[in-house]
Amino acid sequence: MRIRTHHDTCIGAGRCFLAAPELFDQSEHDATVVVLAEQLSGARLQKAREAVEDCPTRTSYLSEP
Ligand code: SF4
Repeated sequence: MRIRTHHDTCIGAGRCFLAAPELFDQSEHDATVVVLAEQLSGARLQKAREAVEDCPTRTSYLSEP
């Protein structure tokens, strides 16, 4: 699984990168999400699942490569 984003809907609310800074970061240019992680499994996948479910705009989501 990988984290994907709909970049144009991100409001930079920061829930993802505050909850999982090892998986998400914030762009210095426009404050939107930057995905740090590549392939996810195990505990990192579970953390990613929780973070994307908490995104208020459904910007981030999980998908197969
Ligand atoms: S992806 Fe969602 S939770 Fe993360 S900064 Fe954007 S809007 Fe906020």
